[in-house]
Amino acid sequence: MLPSTPISSLVRLDEAHKKALARLRLVTVMDLLYHLPTRYENIADIQAISSLREGSEAIVYGQVGGLKTRKAWKSRRPIAEGWIEDGSSRIKVIWFNQPYLAKMLVNGAQVKMVGKIAGKGDKIYLANPEIETGVAMPIDRHDSIFKGTDADQDDTLFPVYRETRGITSKWFFHAVKRAFEAGVLEHVHDPIPEAVRERYSLPDIRTALQWVHTPKKASHTEAARKRFAFEEVFAIQVAKQKERAETFSASSYVVNTDAEHTEAFTSRFPFPLTGAQEKAIADISKDFVSQHPMSRLLEGDVGSGKTAVAATTAYIVATSRPRTEKDWGNLQVAYMAPTEILARQHFLSFIEYFAHLPIQIGLITGSGCMKFPSKTNPSEPTDISRTQLLKWVKNGEVPILIGTHALIQKAVEFKHLAYVIIDEQHRFGTAQRRALAKKDNRIPHLLSMTATPIPRTLALTVYGDLDVTLLDQMPVGRKPIITRTVQKGEREPMYAHLREELELGKQAYVICPRIDEPDPDKEFALQAKSVKAEAERLKKKDLKGYRLGILHSKMSPDAKEKLMEDFSAHKIDVLVATSVVEVGVNVPNATVILIEGAERFGLSQLHQLRGRVMRSSDQAYCYLLPESTGEKTVERLKALTTAKNGFELAEYDLALRGSGELYGARQWGLTDLGMEAIKNMKMVEAARKEAGALIAEDASLTAHTELKARSEGIVGTLHFE
Ligand code: ADP
Ligand code: MG
Repeated sequence: MLPSTPISSLVRLDEAHKKALARLRLVTVMDLLYHLPTRYENIADIQAISSLREGSEAIVYGQVGGLKTRKAWKSRRPIAEGWIEDGSSRIKVIWFNQPYLAKMLVNGAQVKMVGKIAGKGDKIYLANPEIETGVAMPIDRHDSIFKGTDADQDDTLFPVYRETRGITSKWFFHAVKRAFEAGVLEHVHDPIPEAVRERYSLPDIRTALQWVHTPKKASHTEAARKRFAFEEVFAIQVAKQKERAETFSASSYVVNTDAEHTEAFTSRFPFPLTGAQEKAIADISKDFVSQHPMSRLLEGDVGSGKTAVAATTAYIVATSRPRTEKDWGNLQVAYMAPTEILARQHFLSFIEYFAHLPIQIGLITGSGCMKFPSKTNPSEPTDISRTQLLKWVKNGEVPILIGTHALIQKAVEFKHLAYVIIDEQHRFGTAQRRALAKKDNRIPHLLSMTATPIPRTLALTVYGDLDVTLLDQMPVGRKPIITRTVQKGEREPMYAHLREELELGKQAYVICPRIDEPDPDKEFALQAKSVKAEAERLKKKDLKGYRLGILHSKMSPDAKEKLMEDFSAHKIDVLVATSVVEVGVNVPNATVILIEGAERFGLSQLHQLRGRVMRSSDQAYCYLLPESTGEKTVERLKALTTAKNGFELAEYDLALRGSGELYGARQWGLTDLGMEAIKNMKMVEAARKEAGALIAEDASLTAHTELKARSEGIVGTLHFE
């Protein structure tokens, strides 16, 4: 059987299976093989309910029933209870003080419970167990598959897959088993070259697939997982380095400049550049004069002044003519932002930077176009039609075009696009650059800017195609933000302080973890503050008389835009919002941020959020308002006052809470396993070294077809979601 065989030819699928597989995006047998278990259960650890005795720790699987809540007889405390039943017996379960737990469960649900046995004799019960729903039922202990026919077998492990409605771990296990029996492994070839596997003692793909799906020993599962983790990081690195090599060999516009010319622009700024900004501009200028397209990442904490670097380098390009040809007009710059709000903000900042120059600036977004300066009023921008703007971009009259994704649509054609700046976009590869260049096959220089601090290992992997410049210095005169954790019942002085700031004419943000829509996660909905409810509460009580606005992701782009404009224009004092405000919103007059449910956010995300009020020389304040008072929460939030910068916080997130908590972990397209690998510096560096050596030798991967397919994501994308 070939790995490309559809799963439907391997096993008979009912409608529920088909839907589930579609949801998991599993089509071929190869997809199935790469759908790795997320963990293993050791059957030896699971207890039959009939064997439970008082005082012991229990791990049981079974069906729940008899759920109800009541008040404790004496204390009147709320209590939830029910029972759990496996094949052997049933036992009572009691949760004290956590009645919502019973509401989250339904009678008949299959769950795993872990907890302590309390009570005496035949009145024993499971007290306050942790519950895991949607679990795989352990495959029958007497299932022949798990009978150790192999003398080598010392663990009785069964794989637990990420499940979805309609499909169970047991189903996966048997489907994979059948594929193995049909001889699929004979046709699976290893994307990792043998020499590399040997250097790091990684099992080959056939062994690893067997070990990962049908393990006989815990050590086998670990070796196999390590191999797949390496494979993922290695494949990404190969793809990135290949991209880098391709871009480097393409031609680009040579952009000439000299220090004096640049200074004519920067000396008009109302502030001196930081050393880091100077260095960034120098790095970029150096890349501009080389024959090769620049691929550079500008990584700088919020407020480090990336826009000034963008504006200066855009100026250099827009005022430089192609060296060889005479009557071309200007080289052009495209500046892409992730949202309309930000695109507009960049447009307005650029107008300030370029007001004294005869350089036209265009804005293109989904909801309209603008141009600066207006013909009738040279100090103002004006609305223009999309057709008109596109015409001017095409004939080169507008050298700087700022916009959202609308910027890279087919209809947008440039005359001489020499430079692309992108803000907080993580997937802007060679293909997009080529598409933008379209006409003359020269690839534009690329500056990718980000304030998203990520751990070094992740940067090495996902930015493997970019040179990195750090803006690791804050503008002088910025006072460090004051960050405080405030417990329930201690809020009054905080609100008093907030009102004081508002009286001084300052503005503020209040961040809540959710909007107010019905939330599928009941526990979350019960506890977490919502934007809508909190805004109502503040209006009536703590912030009575102030102008409040609300902002969240479910609002239309127009409504969001309008609200941000009102906030910028100080028609609103306090913005109550979800974390949508985290990216780049710039209202320097805002000096206070309150973050409700602070422990629900990762540290680096909290850092992004408080970056909203670190945008001027005024003293800024961040109040963290956790729902829980646990020691761990307090300890973790403390890092926000001790860490030097966002990068340090990202490393904390990775170390403390695991990769799943890492800010924006999903946006880089790594699987859970790949993210695990990111914790391992040695592995990441090894993968990088090997990928580099391989690309140096065989840039187009002609001798490595399996690896080529893997790194292009054609086969064996690990499926977890
Ligand atoms: P970010 O890196 O977050 O994009 P911005 O470019 O928006 O930061 O800059 C934040 C604020 O700091 C802006 O108001 C900007 O005018 C100001 N700024 C930028 N560079 C400097 C500097 N060297 N000195 C003082 N203020 C600066
Ligand atoms: Mg910015």
